[in-house]
Amino acid sequence: MAGSSSDIIVGIDLGTTNSLVAYCDQQGPRVLVNERGERLVPSVVRYESTAGGESRAVVGSEARAAAGEFPATTISSVKRLMGRSVDDARADLPYFSFDVRAGERGTARLAIPTPSGERIVSPQEVSADILRTLREQASAALGAEVHRAVVTVPAYFDDAQRQATRESGRLAGLEVVRILNEPTAAALAYGLGLDRQSERNAAKEPVAVFDLGGGTFDVSILKILSAGGPAGEETSVFQVIATSGDTHLGGDDVDRLLVDYALDGRPVGSVAPGDMARLVASAEAAKRYLSQGDRAVIGVDQSEGPRVERSLDRGAFERLIEGWVERAITCCRRAMGDAARVLGMDGGSMRVGAVVMVGGSTRIPLVRRRVGEFFGLDPYVALDPDEVVALGASVQASILSGTTRGRLLLDVIPLSLGIETVGGAVAKLIMRNSAVPTRATEMFSTSVDGQTSIAIHILQGERELSQDCRSLGMFHVRGIAPMPAGIPQLQVEFAVDSNGVLSVSAVERRSGRRAAVQVIPNHGLTAEEVDRIERESVVHAREDMARHRVIDLVVNSRLDLKWIGDRMERFGHLVEADYLGQLREAAEALAAMVARAESDWRSVEAGEFYTAKEFLDRLSVRLQEVSITESLRVDPPGALPGGA
Ligand code: ADP
Ligand code: MG
Repeated sequence: MAGSSSDIIVGIDLGTTNSLVAYCDQQGPRVLVNERGERLVPSVVRYESTAGGESRAVVGSEARAAAGEFPATTISSVKRLMGRSVDDARADLPYFSFDVRAGERGTARLAIPTPSGERIVSPQEVSADILRTLREQASAALGAEVHRAVVTVPAYFDDAQRQATRESGRLAGLEVVRILNEPTAAALAYGLGLDRQSERNAAKEPVAVFDLGGGTFDVSILKILSAGGPAGEETSVFQVIATSGDTHLGGDDVDRLLVDYALDGRPVGSVAPGDMARLVASAEAAKRYLSQGDRAVIGVDQSEGPRVERSLDRGAFERLIEGWVERAITCCRRAMGDAARVLGMDGGSMRVGAVVMVGGSTRIPLVRRRVGEFFGLDPYVALDPDEVVALGASVQASILSGTTRGRLLLDVIPLSLGIETVGGAVAKLIMRNSAVPTRATEMFSTSVDGQTSIAIHILQGERELSQDCRSLGMFHVRGIAPMPAGIPQLQVEFAVDSNGVLSVSAVERRSGRRAAVQVIPNHGLTAEEVDRIERESVVHAREDMARHRVIDLVVNSRLDLKWIGDRMERFGHLVEADYLGQLREAAEALAAMVARAESDWRSVEAGEFYTAKEFLDRLSVRLQEVSITESLRVDPPGALPGGA
């Protein structure tokens, strides 16, 4: 018995291709097997209609084995649809044999044919069926009901994808006590496999986690820091400092390459769907065999037509997949470059102390060889690449339940987070690749007199302008007493918790008004989109900066002009007519510049604009001295747009 059921927290690797559950007690972490002794549960669910019209879910190896027979009712790779809209998943649709539809707010739904019509299920429900199977498997193995789990997700999963994963847990009767990044889990399992001395050595150098699964590839660079914990215990802090990858690079591609090879020029469409499923299965088996053996045969007897058969040796196989392996190495190069930047090193001197191999496809010898060559060290393969993520998750679970002491985990956020300021500029509060949990606070004010409501528009992305970033939601602080522009003091706080979930709060300090912080979770970004956003931010950085500068100048000049205009009206009679004339002239020149910039920001030169603003600024000093009223002029660094 594993103690009372409420203490038990298992670790779950909810994979695109395969899922598994592990548990860690005083004896250490172990994978929990099902009654057939299987460790991996294929992430495949078939929906069957029973005679009574009810629907039944067949999960795992049985569903996978018969996938070719039931293409429309067998759901695989549902992880790609979690927390996504149909638009987000556009690139994945051709790979699915089942029908994907747009549901509420464009979210992806699956249409499963039934004898009486069809049934619509959400990706969360399908994942829940997988999680339920794992929960039952764990309960049976441990002899106690399991209700709590740590569930892993890819490092690039955004808020919506993480929330969807949590929801699946809830539907499966599991409290997801922590969402953990897969590379962090792998690093944790790796850290456990080392004796104290080598752990100390490893702590000096970052660790790479190379995860090549069935359909996706991720590479992450982590820093493992050892810190003195409470009571003299040693605590390791794991921090992901850079990630890269490809959401369409995995073992499935190799299977397709082998199918093409076996067909030897014959079109894929010439094979009946059922035969094709068996041909893919034969290709996958040949691939696995070639991880150890020297020669394998791919073959299938077609239901109609001649037998398809072709054999190949290790050398031919490696030539076939060379380009595929290089795509992964290219990602490694990027991740190492990013990591070097984060650590403030030049790219050439960036080194890792270990490369942890994760995912079934890292069993391919060519993959291991190329990874070894690229990183300049033998990859770490002591841990089973299928199990390392689940084992790490179970270690984290045991820390949370108090079974294991020490070790604290940190992850990073993939894209910067901020809010829109006046003129469509973006104030970033949390920068990309910051470790979570993290929080940031900044003060803002208003740009319009008498504003009683302030809109907070939450944005995600690397660009300088809100229109180029992704909107995560909008909320308002209402009921503020009317005050002149620049006087309200709005404190905005961003907090990202250890699950990577963002909360935003805002309080206007003079009125004490707070805003309810409801960031509406929305759909996820693909890794390609994250890549594109990063790339574009580099390409557009110069233009964005110029534009951002002009926008800032417009905003600040407008405030200056308003203030100076006010003072001239009220106190103009107290200064010399000459001086007043000069002031007026300078103000008109600046106002003309503002008008031009507003119609087209490119038509003004930022430097010239700045000089005009500065000139008026300096000239107005006397007026300022003369004005008796205490200046309320606040230079607002980030004034917010007028409220709705
Ligand atoms: P995911 O993380 O996407 O769920 P896995 O880590 O379980 O995926 O990896 C599944 C992939 O690993 C499949 O493409 C499978 O064919 C491949 N694989 C498993 N074992 C081997 C092996 N011995 N040699 C080559 N590829 C393998
Ligand atoms: Mg995996």
